[in-house]
Amino acid sequence: MSTDPIYAELTTRLRHNHLLDSVGQLLGWDEQVNLPAGSAGFRAEQQAALAKTQHEAASHPRLGAMLGELETQAGRLGPDEATVIRQARKDYDRATRLPEEFVRERALQSSRGYHAWAKARAENNFAAFVPVLEKNLELVKREAGYLGWAGREYDYMIDLHDPGMSAAVIAGLFAELRAGLVPLVRQIAASPVRPRADLLRGFPVEGQRAFLREVTEKLGFDYGRGRIDVSLHPFCSGTGADIRMTTRFNPDEPLDSLFSSIHETGHGLYEQGLPAVHYGTALGMNAGMGVHESQSRLWENQVGRSRGFWKFFEPRFRELFPQQTAGVSAEELYLAINAVAPTLIRVDADEVTYNLHIILRFEIEQRLFAGTLAVRDLPAAWNAAARELLGLTPDSDRTGVLQDVHWSYGAFGYFPSYCLGNMMAAQLWHRALALRPELEADFARGDFSWLLDWLRREVHVAGRRHEMPELVRRVTGEALSPQALLRYLHGRYGVLYPA
Ligand code: ZN
Repeated sequence: MSTDPIYAELTTRLRHNHLLDSVGQLLGWDEQVNLPAGSAGFRAEQQAALAKTQHEAASHPRLGAMLGELETQAGRLGPDEATVIRQARKDYDRATRLPEEFVRERALQSSRGYHAWAKARAENNFAAFVPVLEKNLELVKREAGYLGWAGREYDYMIDLHDPGMSAAVIAGLFAELRAGLVPLVRQIAASPVRPRADLLRGFPVEGQRAFLREVTEKLGFDYGRGRIDVSLHPFCSGTGADIRMTTRFNPDEPLDSLFSSIHETGHGLYEQGLPAVHYGTALGMNAGMGVHESQSRLWENQVGRSRGFWKFFEPRFRELFPQQTAGVSAEELYLAINAVAPTLIRVDADEVTYNLHIILRFEIEQRLFAGTLAVRDLPAAWNAAARELLGLTPDSDRTGVLQDVHWSYGAFGYFPSYCLGNMMAAQLWHRALALRPELEADFARGDFSWLLDWLRREVHVAGRRHEMPELVRRVTGEALSPQALLRYLHGRYGVLYPA
């Protein structure tokens, strides 16, 4: 089948579209890292021109004709070819089924929504944001309808980020996680053990830069095919052949730049491990946002906050920052690395409580889409959930329902991926330790290669062949579940923060 000339032409076109997308990502990276302020208008024109070309390529009638032809020969297809065609069909439908007028309206509303949110947040005025949010909900529901998801609009939004996942499945997983997590957070909040917030101050940026470079290189990131720069918010973009990561520096928060860099490195390692020969098709594509997050979280948390990791890197850390670490014991440093304290703000949350922030947003989104919660009643629902889950009450909507940008441009169904990623990361970690119990001893010697090789073999080279639940089952032998995450969190933090 793979010698079929139509199939060959299809993959050539898909690779072309992927190249155009990667150019767009490069422009986006440059905008956040290098762009002179006075060039922003011209950059917007460049991006609009490219977007037009991308859309023409993605909706080209020849693509539709080829897909139609290949789909009639479904019986002759191998499983890999079928996967490629299924994904290409999904992308083609998305590019062709939305009316032009609708796409324009959605884009306009996204930009309007962002500005309305920024203003409402600055003025702590949720009422002003209500009509915007109502409009956003209406638009994404219409979009779901165009693409054949009428009546399952929230599932459509979830599937956009995590193919094959649904609100019902997530609800079951999150209920189980919530039941196990709330008592642990209560225990930590009541524990006499407190990490010292003032411990790490005045770390020169040059030293931080050198340290994170050494760390990420040691973890296996290939700087011959990628780089790390500075931006306001850290991110990882690009394709495996050219990864662009960013971080940010604050002399008084050295762990922020370090862990955000390790996090983005996890994303970068995944992309660098996808098979380059398949770029543009599902076989060379990541398996979705939840799987992506499992990779970044695994390196950031299970690896980067482990005793083994710090056994190896602590001497170098002290060597680079002798004065700053002079009065800090190894145990105090380890506690600062694993600081946990409930906060109202998601982006400031630690590894343990972060999951509760996600559960809160998921439960609210579910009710919004089901029509059992009106937009105007959001603040009350939000505050009640924050009290219940985090034990904290927002003092204003700025620290409550107005804190996140996502809903302002219609990005619903986006949050659950983070938590799904945490679950998968813990399951991968559990499996890796079962296969190689001396993993932390490897880390303590500065050897991270076993874990990376295993992830390459089991997760990265598969591309998008399997949806997340199937991938987890194949790699770990277990169904996707929060139990490994709960065991891991209790094991690490229940011990660090005794009652
Ligand atoms: Zn991430």
